[in-house]
Amino acid sequence: MKYRNLGKSGLKVSELSFGSWVTFNKQVDAGLAERMFGTCLDAGINFFDNAEGYEAGNSEIVMGKALKALNRPRDSYCVSSKVFFGSYSSPLPTQCGLSRKHVTEACHQALQRLQVDYLDLYFCHRPDPETPVSETVWAMHNLVTQGKVLYWGTSEWSAAEIAEAYEFAQANHLTPPSMEQPQYNLLDRERVEIEYAQLYGRYGLGTTTWSPLASGALTGKYLQGIPADSRAALPGYEWLRERMVESERGQDRLQRVANLLPVAEELGTTLPRLAIAWCLLNSNVSTVILGASKVSQLEENLKSVEVVPLLTEPVRKRLQAI
Ligand code: NDP
Repeated sequence: MKYRNLGKSGLKVSELSFGSWVTFNKQVDAGLAERMFGTCLDAGINFFDNAEGYEAGNSEIVMGKALKALNRPRDSYCVSSKVFFGSYSSPLPTQCGLSRKHVTEACHQALQRLQVDYLDLYFCHRPDPETPVSETVWAMHNLVTQGKVLYWGTSEWSAAEIAEAYEFAQANHLTPPSMEQPQYNLLDRERVEIEYAQLYGRYGLGTTTWSPLASGALTGKYLQGIPADSRAALPGYEWLRERMVESERGQDRLQRVANLLPVAEELGTTLPRLAIAWCLLNSNVSTVILGASKVSQLEENLKSVEVVPLLTEPVRKRLQAI
């Protein structure tokens, strides 16, 4: 496993990391999570991603139990949480968003659920147009100075919103955001490659990118329909099935996936490995957050690091064309 700095910060994150959206508490219990973390740690992964909003806080509880059972030294891995959506299915006005109150409460609750003393990374899960950015920056800065958070960042904020937060922090001698968590994969590229282009050099922004397989679409497994044990078949994720498979846009994307398959075959690899390896080519990506509902998927996806050297300029051009 290789390690990359989280932007201009000194934190070295493994280039592949592991997240828990959808999976933990829904498909993965604490016992399976413990096995998955064991697989990750043995492979050199040192960052595990979570959020208050995943399974209404239960994803963090599962992660906390699994990490405790593994009993690895706290200084050998990083955990994150994210604030915005709240950890209740119908949060009260003070239980969601990016107010000083909720940013602080959500941090305290995440620490309890994850059974840790501090969060290595803490993200604002979405922008909150109803809270001044200055208030959120102050709240994050205070958590940093209290030792409860080491690095704070954003997720799916516009370039302008990130710049506003950074500039406010800098002008007021507060801790600026270190990283952003955007979607990035062969089918979703614009924000990371174009919109944020100026931010990497100007602010030293790191990125922890999500859905490298576009929720599984880039494995090719939806080309013959929806497998019964897949994310798109899960109750409560009908919106995702519509987006991934049933909509016109979903069908267009699956056609591109079908066109990618022969490239993987010619390289003697698999489509998931190829798709994840492609994300690693971008040096503005600090870490690619993997998702998996089974240990076998994780083991398969970890092999993507071996595929990176196969992605020569001509191969990249073919992928670009598709
Ligand atoms: P992926 O796009 O890689 O999708 C992972 C899912 O695809 C798995 O759970 C599994 O679903 C399927 N899959 C993975 N590998 C294989 C394989 N080899 N063969 C067949 N199927 C496979 O990543 P995620 O969408 O899970 O995102 C990764 C992480 O990013 C999340 O856990 C979360 O931490 C973060 N994230 C952050 C967001 C944000 O807004 N900040 C939003 C979304 C994610 P199944 O078996 O059920 O089909």
